[in-house]
Amino acid sequence: MKILLVNPPNCGRSIPEERYGINSIRQIFRGEPLALEVLAGNLADHEVRILDLKAEPESLHSTLDVFRPQLVGFTAVTCEANTVLRLAGEVKESCGAVVVVGGIHASSDPSFFNRPEIDYVIIGLGKASFAELTAAIEAGTTTGGIPGVATTRPGEALLFTPRNFGLPDLVEQVPPRYDLVAAYRAGYTLSSIGSQIGMVASAFGCPFRCSFCCISSQAGGRYLTHSVEAVIRDIRLLGTLPVIRLVDANTFGNIGHARLLVEAIAAAGIRTNFIADVRSDTVVRHPELMRQWQEAGLRSVVIGFEEIADNDLTFFNKENKVAINNEAISILHELGITIVGDFIVSPDYDDARFEVLEEYVISRAIELPILTVLTPLPGTALYSELHERITIRDLDYYTLTNAVTATRLGEKRFYQQYARLMKQFHARAKL
Ligand code: SF4
Repeated sequence: MKILLVNPPNCGRSIPEERYGINSIRQIFRGEPLALEVLAGNLADHEVRILDLKAEPESLHSTLDVFRPQLVGFTAVTCEANTVLRLAGEVKESCGAVVVVGGIHASSDPSFFNRPEIDYVIIGLGKASFAELTAAIEAGTTTGGIPGVATTRPGEALLFTPRNFGLPDLVEQVPPRYDLVAAYRAGYTLSSIGSQIGMVASAFGCPFRCSFCCISSQAGGRYLTHSVEAVIRDIRLLGTLPVIRLVDANTFGNIGHARLLVEAIAAAGIRTNFIADVRSDTVVRHPELMRQWQEAGLRSVVIGFEEIADNDLTFFNKENKVAINNEAISILHELGITIVGDFIVSPDYDDARFEVLEEYVISRAIELPILTVLTPLPGTALYSELHERITIRDLDYYTLTNAVTATRLGEKRFYQQYARLMKQFHARAKL
């Protein structure tokens, strides 16, 4: 079967830009569509192409005309969901292909895609489900009952056969099809240091349940890791790229695995720069592991500090403390590992809260602070909690840089403060 896997274009909308002419905080994503490369790896019996509309936004129709796919698969995060519906409609009109949607938004809120433009919705890790679905479609056998897959039926509830995610769902014996994005590779760069970057997955899901986070839906609430051999294989497939981003939401969630992996990287003589996500409490409990990783090339870590008061961390169910965050910052600085620090700005912030955050970030010398606006993403506990307070329901604005609940400050003032901090932090960034 001819299968086209599509990465949607950059498409989120920006309230500060549209209403106040503040154009410095729009989200732009430039990374490779690893999830699609992973899916493609398990489709050996088919002719597969990947179209990255973030790299070439206008090329859907020309690709459909030339390739004439029988099946088109989309992935989408929440702010891309409306765009994927529109593109799915265009696919139907253009070539009538079967349309399948998966990814974070489909996993968090599958009913959103229960529309005529879409034929199937896949939730969670889709590598096995997608292959089973394509095999059934090609063979003309029933697609009902494939775990993790629902046939859309607009107006009625979606029916899923549950998929109890486990190691077989990783299908790790087949690697990602990095070759399918070779034409785009030169454009996959880390803008802060201007280096080419490749992505490798080593872990899936997360054992924690932070209320704002949609990662747990990825693996049905479980935390799964690739074998060390599979991770080393994938790093090697990327050749001599100067930066490897371990894209897992929580790379060090299994300490034994993280230790084996770093030993294997060292033993294999791999020399590159790694960037990975880590929780601050992991850094504090296992500084020797961080040292091992630093020696093996860990250059930067991404840490979700989220907030600077314990009661706010408790509100997010972060299961962490500010004192632990502070200690982790000291340990990482001592080790020479730079920090990309995620902080969540609540629409409830007043001027004083912005100033306290500014002072904290500067005094802790966090190399690249990232500020996102607290956003109740559909499917999360936070969404249930704040549902009544949501004032903007158009998912185009769920970019994590817009306030979709009312701001305590006047809206313009809120975005001015937000933009001021972002500008100041980026000017000081030292990644
Ligand atoms: S924010 Fe991080 S630690 Fe919390 S659930 Fe998400 S991935 Fe896990």
